[in-house]
Order: sequence, then structure tokens, then C-alpha cells
Amino acid sequence: MKSTQDLSWFFYTSREVMIGSLGFGGSNPLRLQSMTNTPTADVEATVAQSIRIFDVGADLVRITAQNISEAKAIGEIRKKLSDAGYLQPLAADIHFNPAIAIEAARRVEKIRINPGNFVNLFPGKLRFSNEEYDNELDKIYQTTVPLISVCRKYGTAVRIGINGGSLSKRIIDRYGNTPQAMVESAIEFLNIFRSENFHELIVSIKASDVLTTIRANRLLAQAFVEKGFQYPIHLGVTEAGEGEDGRIKSAAGIGSLLLDGIGNTIRVSLTEAPEKEIPIAKEIAASALKNAAHKETARKFFETVSPFVHYLNENEKSSNIKPVVGIQNNIPEFSLQIDLLRNMFKQYSNEKMAIVWEPKVQSAIDFAIVAGSFLADGCGNAIRVDTQKDTGSYYQTALSLLQTTGRLITRAAFTSCPSCGRTSYDIEKILKQVKEQFASYIGVQFAVMGCIVNGPGEMAGARYGILGSKPNHVDIYFNGQPVLKAIHQDKAVAELKKLVDENEQH
Ligand code: SF4
Repeated sequence: MKSTQDLSWFFYTSREVMIGSLGFGGSNPLRLQSMTNTPTADVEATVAQSIRIFDVGADLVRITAQNISEAKAIGEIRKKLSDAGYLQPLAADIHFNPAIAIEAARRVEKIRINPGNFVNLFPGKLRFSNEEYDNELDKIYQTTVPLISVCRKYGTAVRIGINGGSLSKRIIDRYGNTPQAMVESAIEFLNIFRSENFHELIVSIKASDVLTTIRANRLLAQAFVEKGFQYPIHLGVTEAGEGEDGRIKSAAGIGSLLLDGIGNTIRVSLTEAPEKEIPIAKEIAASALKNAAHKETARKFFETVSPFVHYLNENEKSSNIKPVVGIQNNIPEFSLQIDLLRNMFKQYSNEKMAIVWEPKVQSAIDFAIVAGSFLADGCGNAIRVDTQKDTGSYYQTALSLLQTTGRLITRAAFTSCPSCGRTSYDIEKILKQVKEQFASYIGVQFAVMGCIVNGPGEMAGARYGILGSKPNHVDIYFNGQPVLKAIHQDKAVAELKKLVDENEQH
């Protein structure tokens, strides 16, 4: 594990990678992206949704390709968008199947592959000898080389997209299910592409948990600096959910990294219409730019606070008193800044520290980025909201930020994917119902996921889950296992309630 003093991640810079005719990384502005959730085979609907996403300011749209015919449909979507004057790049999202990746790479500007499920030489295996480990890696190499040659021929960029919920069993066996494992998984794939002298690469490491997202991406930047890699980094918090919770979670996770200079492109994953992700991505981007951390202040702060592993301020550690939220109305206009917080902490690290939020001068997103970064690093003992108006709603926002940074749990935790072409039920409606029904189950984790293909891995840790299994139907999971199958979506929440009643004291 990296030592606290090891701060070379702070000096990570990326080179420019071209995706189509658009540069990512280097001196380019932060690029914003989203993903369609229409069935990819429905070319007209996917074109229309892509246009809606581009029209609100996206730089790139990603589309899932689950099979060869969908990879080909993305080619048609590309053509129709170009004919309509939308020349921005498209990315095809691939899981499980290198042949689909090759088809898609011929048709769009970028493909995303997931190293966790790209090649699986030993299905079901959990423990790997060194020889088996190397054999699987060799198989990945052999499978990836033909893809690299297609990408080179067609000028297609590749995102190596690590997801905390779908790490390969091989990686987990060697490194555990940890932020370091996510980084190692990325480096293994990067090395394969590098050995073929292919560098049109972007890397992402995502998790549904804000703390894991922050630590893993700092470790990735650190590894890049140590190895002299300069690939742009794509940021996102997966399964962030919807409404204010999803926005606060995304701001805290993505914004914390951006303000320390990590990240070249972002995707905010909300369980809402994808075009709604772009305005919030813009707000996060603008806020992080405005609140960019001063490197020297950060360096001193991280001499005390570990950037990579759990840290808790001395005051809370010794008193065991959790952070609190209070409402006040007694200070002049004040806008919180990360440098101010980090400087104060350096001076008074054993003292109780309150974080002040004045909603009149600082938006919830702005506050979630600055205070979220500080709280996620284990600092701060209270949030004081300085307002006379809407006290209840600001109070809830502050609680939401404490919950998302893991500092104070006051409600159930909800994980939900943004949905994609694999989703065939009304996930947005079911998520709202689940949140209403179960919010008061403090600390219990519920997941609402679009599909049973990636959903079980990506909701890892959730006690209860509703996952789309066939059109208008879901499977219900308990402790990671399906316990009710093919339930009509209209009955899903009632069935889940029975299960919860059987298992929770409430
Ligand atoms: S869990 Fe399934 S439906 Fe949801 S975003 Fe991932 S692949 Fe798409």
C-alpha cells in the first residue's frame, strides 16, 4: 500500500487521445458523456435519444452492444447521426465477448471493454495457481491482439473500463476486492495494449461507493505517474441512483477527484433519462474548476490524512461522536473552499471542526464537492447550514452528504444503475417506490438494477435487490442470491416488502 507521504498522484497529467475528431485529455476541456438506455436494436429510438443527449451538450454518447447484431445496429445509428449533422463520437459498450468488440470497433470511434468479463478461461473458479493466473492472462493477450489490430486499422480508441462490481475472479484471488485490485486489473490490460504499441486508450475505475471511487482513482493516478503512463482518466460513480441522492453522490465522488486534478472526462450515472445527466455533469465540471485545490495546501494536508486508505480525524476517533447537522443563521455571506478546510485542519487537527454551508451563496453541488471531499477524507465533525429558509430540505441534503461519504448513516442505502439497452422494465418507477417504501430501514442496502447480466455483480453488498430479468419482469435477490424469479414489475415492491418483513426488525 502507498504511504501517506507518497503524493506523486498529484502530478499526474494526461496526453491527448483522439476519439474521432475530438481530443480527450491533454489540454482539452473536461469532456462530458452519457449513455443511451433505449434498446440498441431500436435504431430510430436510439438515434432520437442520442440527439437529445448531444443537444444538451454531451461530447460523446455510449451505446450498449450485447450481440453482433447490436454492434451492427450501432453502425446504422452512427450513419443516421452523421447524416443528421451529429458528428460527435459514439462509443460501444462491450461486456463478455471479444467478437462483438471487433464488430463494433469497425463502426464507431471508441469501444469500452470491461477487463473483468472480457475473457474467462476458468468459469466458476475462485482460486488460481500462478500457472492458471498466467494462462488466463496469456489467453487475454491472444484474444486482445486481433481487436487491437482492428482498432488500429479503423482509428478506434479503447476505454479500459474497470468496474468494482465485476472484477475478474483471478484478480480478486490475487489482490482481494480492493481499490488496488482495480488498478492492477487496469494495468494488466494497459500492458497488453502497450506491448502492441497501441496507445489510443482511456481508463476508468468506477465503483458504486464514493470512498472506493476516490481511493482507487488516486491509486490509478499514482500508478500512472510511477510508470510514466499518460492516459486520460474517465470518472464516474456507478449506480449513483436518482434525484438529489444521485446528484450529491456523483458530486462528492467525481468532484473530489476533479478538484485535485484527476479526471479528463466524466459520466454522471443517474437512474433517470440520460439527457438529464449532462446538466449535472456541467455543474460538477464548472464547480470543480472553480474549486480547484492548491497543490501545496493539499500536499501538507495529505501529510496527515491518508489519500489511499481509511482515515478518521482524531476528535471523532477519541470521542466516538459521529458528525451532526445543525441549522444556524448568523454568519456573513460565506462560500466554503477546499483550501480553507484543508488549511484549518492542518492547524487544528485535534479539534472539533464544523463545516459551514450557506445555500444562499453556494449550491448543493458546490457544497457536495468541497465538503464531500473533506468528509470522504475522514475530516470534519459537523455541518452547520446557515439559512432561515427551507431548513428541512437543506438538513436532508447535509444528511445525504454525510451518508454518501460514509460518515453518518441515517437511512437505508440505495444503489441503482442508470439502466441501458439491457433494461426492459420501468426501473425509474420501481426505484422511486423502493426508496419511498424502505427509506427508514437505517443502514440496510437495497439495489434496483436494470438487468441480471451485470446487475448481480454490480450490486455486490446489497442485502436486497430488484433486477430486471425479462420484459416487465424482475428477479428479487436476498444476500446476493435470487429468491423470487420472474415477478411482474407491478408486484415487485409488494413482494420485496414481504421478504424484508421476514428478515428485518423494524
Ligand atoms: S446493470 Fe445491466 S442494465 Fe444496468 S447499466 Fe449495467 S448492464 Fe445496463
